[in-house]
Amino acid sequence: MKDWVSFDRRHVWHPYASVLNPGPVHAVRSARGASLELADGRWVVDGMASWWCAIHGYNVPELNDAVSRQLERMAHVMFGGLTHEPAVRLASRLLELAPAGLQHVFFADSGSVAVEVALKMALQFWQPGQAEKRRILTIRHGYHGDTFGAMSVCDPVTGMHHLFSGMLPRQLFVAAPAGQQWEHAAEEMASVLGAHGHEIAAVILEPVVQGAGGMRFYAPAFLRQVRRLCDAHDVLLILDEIATGFGRTGRMFACEHAGIEPDIMCVGKALTGGYMSLAAVLASHEVARGVEAGGQVLMHGPTFMANPLACSVALASIDLLLSSPWQERVGRIEQAFRDGLESCRSARGVADVRALGAIGVIEMKQPVDVSSVQERLLSKGVWLRPFGRLIYAMPPYVLSDQELSLLVQAMAEVVHEL
Ligand SMILES: *Cc1c(COP(=O)(O)O)cnc(C)c1O
Repeated sequence: MKDWVSFDRRHVWHPYASVLNPGPVHAVRSARGASLELADGRWVVDGMASWWCAIHGYNVPELNDAVSRQLERMAHVMFGGLTHEPAVRLASRLLELAPAGLQHVFFADSGSVAVEVALKMALQFWQPGQAEKRRILTIRHGYHGDTFGAMSVCDPVTGMHHLFSGMLPRQLFVAAPAGQQWEHAAEEMASVLGAHGHEIAAVILEPVVQGAGGMRFYAPAFLRQVRRLCDAHDVLLILDEIATGFGRTGRMFACEHAGIEPDIMCVGKALTGGYMSLAAVLASHEVARGVEAGGQVLMHGPTFMANPLACSVALASIDLLLSSPWQERVGRIEQAFRDGLESCRSARGVADVRALGAIGVIEMKQPVDVSSVQERLLSKGVWLRPFGRLIYAMPPYVLSDQELSLLVQAMAEVVHEL
């Protein structure tokens, strides 16, 4: 097809974008290491790791091999009444890595679906004896995905509630903790649990880092307090580790910063090293028992559940991560963000600069002009996708020192030019 880019512009939807009046898109020809090759021949460092996913970068021999080897056996087979080694080995690896209380695994096909499944688990858990526990409590500024259940627990202001009001389940929200200021949020949560605990099935949170809702970091002490409150008020705790899992914050899972265990945990994004869509919901034995207490079973079963190609590449990705010096790599990225972005703090229009693990954030006072910032960054050899007031990066862990300093310098220069 000759004019495929213009066909794209006329017919193909991109995320959260107009199909009738499209903004610029850049064609990618290939990707290798931490870089993307654009159609015009330029190579640019991918500071987004394809939205948190490509932790090992692109065209990774170990992951390519895992896919090809599995492809020769079978690409897919239904999971209803059948099973296969890639799924079982992945389940076993996930349970080894995750907090010890989690003992059962449900494979879903995307992060949003994993959140739906986690919410269903929580609702079905209380069904047998306390069916009035049907609401979910969360903090503001969250992001948990784009399907209806997931949207209902996203931030009610910056999320999509206004577009779908009346269609979304009405959940409960309290203030989000902000950095080290978490006591107020915990008090508000305690009072809502005191007043509404009898109708609350679960609290859902992104541990330590709130991602797409604003790239906000908060003190692990808040998570410890939420765990205590959930126990005291007989409410399940769901942790959404879809963005934070697999080392992004400097720990394998962000809940390890707090030393707590959730009752239900969602993982996705980096699970397959960015090769394909796969997510998983991990649950404690108590949750599994509760769900089935009334003689029911968990009512979910995607067509592509536990897809063998995705499970094989996920297993290879986890093994590659575990055999790599990932903590050192993530620590080096955190240090580079701390050192290299610090000078932005005094630049005009900057509200805050922060880094945690392999995440670096510059928060502006005003919304940024995404395409003009993007063009400036591309001309410096870097791909980022700013949103709202945020210019941020979460690169593949494997980027070289040169690529890392190119990325950090480009971010700092662009902010000084604004
Ligand atoms: C991206 C994300 C999701 C949704 O995952 P999809 O695979 O895009 O459906 C859910 N929760 C968090 C925290 C995420 O970052």
